[in-house]
Amino acid sequence: MSAVANELEGPPSLWLRRHPRRRDVPFAIVGGGLVGLSTAYWLKKAGAAPLVLEAGPIGGRASGRNAGFLLTGSAEPFRRLAQQIGRDRALAFWRMTAENRELLRKELLDGDRIDCDFLPEGSWIAALDTPESVAELRGSTEDLKAEGLDLQWVEGEALAAASGSRRLGGAIFQPRDGGLHPVKLTQGIVEAGDLEVLTGARVRELDSDTGGVLLRCDSGDVRAERALVAVNAYLPSLIPRLAAEVRPVRGQMLATKPLPRALKGVWYIDDGFQYLRQLADGTVVLGGCRDEAVEEEVGYAERPTQRVQKALERFLGEFFPAFSGASVVHRWAGTMGFSQDGLPCIGEVPGLSAALYAAGLTGHGLSLSFILGRYLAQRLMGEISEPFLPAVGQAPPDSAPDR
Ligand SMILES: Cc1cc2nc3c(=O)[nH]c(=O)nc-3n(C[C@H](O)[C@H](O)[C@H](O)COP(=O)(O)OP(=O)(O)OC[C@H]3O[C@@H](n4cnc5c(N)ncnc54)[C@H](O)[C@@H]3O)c2cc1C
Repeated sequence: MSAVANELEGPPSLWLRRHPRRRDVPFAIVGGGLVGLSTAYWLKKAGAAPLVLEAGPIGGRASGRNAGFLLTGSAEPFRRLAQQIGRDRALAFWRMTAENRELLRKELLDGDRIDCDFLPEGSWIAALDTPESVAELRGSTEDLKAEGLDLQWVEGEALAAASGSRRLGGAIFQPRDGGLHPVKLTQGIVEAGDLEVLTGARVRELDSDTGGVLLRCDSGDVRAERALVAVNAYLPSLIPRLAAEVRPVRGQMLATKPLPRALKGVWYIDDGFQYLRQLADGTVVLGGCRDEAVEEEVGYAERPTQRVQKALERFLGEFFPAFSGASVVHRWAGTMGFSQDGLPCIGEVPGLSAALYAAGLTGHGLSLSFILGRYLAQRLMGEISEPFLPAVGQAPPDSAPDR
């Protein structure tokens, strides 16, 4: 397994290893991204005192490098997702992302409980202008509306007026979604939850310890009654036995200089292969074009490449003429964790019944992590044992029968 790319990489000194510091805590969380912090938030809210161990800075990896879309739904249209994983599971996924949004809004975003530049202008999931893509997305919208989801289908002049683009064939509009500043969100969760987070605390190893877990950490060992490993794409390097669960996939982004504000909401286009939004100050933020170089866009190097960045600029000019030729002032990349079926992988760490892991939120971490954190906190406290999403062949309690 290749080493995780991180400027803080490198083994501890002999002196740090031999230093007899050891802390005893009820709950330890490995990873200070959205999943780890959300879980710690809910544990703290339930009266427990979790300790978060983070190798780098808070939100330093995918959680602080994403596009900031609080978006309901899946990358692929609902009908295709239903074919891939089953209708009940696909519906449960969509409902879970809608519940996540409402939970996050109620708990932290609405009323500015935390300041993370939340712009609740809605989201657009748009199909390219081909008859097949439009028919699939329109049919998916009808199915989801029939299931009670709050969404609208928009096409023609109304869509051109909202987007400023003539290249989109139709779109789902979801009024309660929006965009936010992801680093401010992660820091806001820490403050709102009054969480204890040790940064620069890379966990090297987990061992069992009389019913609990011993975490060997650069900043000193920690003994926890229960632990959560929330390291996303980095799971294989910490727990090699789980290497098959998640693989690292790169996502790239760019930002332009501020332009007159022409685009409201967050825009997720062509099965999420391109996504863009315009911030309140007029900056256009665009990501995607991974399909331009699928074979290259893997691994842990958080480096933008010319090939994908050029494709992003081309896309912007061709699809959104109002932003054509805008000067790019920043480019960056981040590492997503992709699971095998695109759904989060959650389970007990092999050989360590006191430790759970949760990874593989693909491009949907913001859309799922807050409600997933509540679920994981309840599981760590022994309050629930059922799966986060229904397993194959298991219908969620309120789902319609398969048609
Ligand atoms: C370019 C890009 C755009 C995206 N856009 C969106 C979007 O708009 N909306 C959306 O919903 N999702 C988006 N995503 C996906 C989303 O960012 C992720 O799904 C989400 O951040 C995953 O959160 P996490 O907590 O699981 O992982 P991470 O944020 O990766 O956090 C894991 C943490 O674990 C730490 N760690 C790793 N190993 C160790 C160790 N051994 N010891 C201690 N700490 C360790 C890491 O430093 C890291 O901070 C995007 C991702 C990228 C890359």
